[in-house]
Amino acid sequence: MTELNQQTIYDDNNIFAKMLNGDIPYHKVYEDDKTLAFMDIMPQAEGHVLVIPKQKAVDLADLEPEYAAAVLMTSKKVMQAQRQVFEREGIIQMQLNGAQAGQTVFHYHVHLIPSSIHELGRHAAAMADQEKLAAIASQLATVIDAE
Ligand code: AMP
Repeated sequence: MTELNQQTIYDDNNIFAKMLNGDIPYHKVYEDDKTLAFMDIMPQAEGHVLVIPKQKAVDLADLEPEYAAAVLMTSKKVMQAQRQVFEREGIIQMQLNGAQAGQTVFHYHVHLIPSSIHELGRHAAAMADQEKLAAIASQLATVIDAE
């Protein structure tokens, strides 16, 4: 049997846990009692957003039903805002489970990327301009707040 290099135990010091604790800054798009949405710092396309549950879940295997539902509903809000702000229909919803799949942050998260599977940029490759991320976060947040 193949040995898998899996991270199955939740690390309280992972970068998204630090965001939820208010220990590091991020560009917020939306927040409610069960989820947080913010700009991906190394976007695979302009407007790349991550949605995380406020639950200590490494990946999909750990996600509790109420948080799964909440992440999906927040993802829907974000996607609808991306469609409006970027004036495009095509939004990729992506989620990686395990290092073998390319997961690099071991707190469950959904990627929402205004792009096409045929044009998608490299994963976690280049830092975006912070001012630009802040401006996009504010645009998306304004659209979500108006709904
Ligand atoms: P994954 O490889 O699916 O675990 O994705 C992790 C994502 O988190 C990548 O797209 C990274 O660009 C993103 N990321 C890493 N650190 C930060 C951070 N401090 N703020 C926002 N996004 C981040």
